[in-house]
Amino acid sequence: RLSIRDLSKLYNEFVALDHISLDIEQGEKIVVLGPSGSGKSTFIRCLNRIEPHDSGVLMIDGKIIDQKTDLTELRGRVGMVFQNYNLFPHLTVLENCAVAPRLVRSIPRGQAEDTARRILAQVGIAEQASKYPIQLSGGQQQRVAIARALCMDPEIILFDEPTAALDPEAISGVVLIINDLAAQGITTVCVTHEMGFARRIADRIVFMDKGRVQEITPPEEFFTAPRSARAHAFLNEMI
Ligand code: ATP
Ligand code: MG
Repeated sequence: RLSIRDLSKLYNEFVALDHISLDIEQGEKIVVLGPSGSGKSTFIRCLNRIEPHDSGVLMIDGKIIDQKTDLTELRGRVGMVFQNYNLFPHLTVLENCAVAPRLVRSIPRGQAEDTARRILAQVGIAEQASKYPIQLSGGQQQRVAIARALCMDPEIILFDEPTAALDPEAISGVVLIINDLAAQGITTVCVTHEMGFARRIADRIVFMDKGRVQEITPPEEFFTAPRSARAHAFLNEMI
C-alpha cells in the first residue's frame, strides 16, 4: 500500500506539486490525467524519488520514504517505464532485461537471463530477445521497457505516457499487460493523454491541475460526470 500525504514539490519558487494526498491499494490501477504542465510526471517521479519531494509524507507499506531511504532498493520495489523507453542501445533486449538484476541484485547471469526470457514471453516478445532496441518497433520497445521493469520483481510500476507512440493494436497490448500485472498484485500508476486507454485500465482516475489533485473518481463517473469544473473543461477540450 502506497500512502501519500500532503506531498509538495517546488522548483525554486514554482509550486509543481501542492499538497497531494492519495492512498493506493496493492494491485490497484491508478491513472493520472490532467493538462500539460499540471505536475503528472513530477508526481509519479516523486514516488520513486527520481524527484525528491520538499514536504509531506510518502509511505510504502507503512515505511517512510525519505532522504534516508536506500534508493537502489526503493527503485527495485517501485519500477518506472519512461515515455521514451530509455533502453540501453548497446545491449540486446535480453541483456537490457537482465542487467539490473545481475548488477543490482547480484543474480547470476544464467538465472537473470532465464527470468528475462520468461518475462519477455509474458509480454509477448520472446522472439525479439537477441535484437538491439533500434531493430524494434515502438510497441516492441515499449514491451521491452515493461519487461525490464518487471525483471526487478517490483511491487509498483510507474508509467509515464506508455502509449504515446503506439497504434491502437499496440495500445490494446499494453492494456492486457497492465491488467495482467494487476492480477499478479502489482500496483500501477499510469500517466496518459489517451482517454480511451485511461478508461479501459483505470480503477480510479486522479485528475490533476496546477499541481493539485482536483478529484479522484472512478472512470465511468469521471468520463460522464466529472466532479470538478476543471475536469469538465479538460474533457470538453479533448473531444
Ligand atoms: P505533460 O503532460 O506536458 O507531460 P506534466 O503534467 O507531466 O505535463 P510536469 O512535467 O510534471 O507536467 O511539470 C509540472 C510543472 O513543473 C511544469 O510547469 C514544468 O515546467 C515544471 N517543471 C518540471 N520539471 C522541472 C524542472 N526540472 N525544473 C523546473 N521546473 C520544472
Ligand atoms: Mg509529463
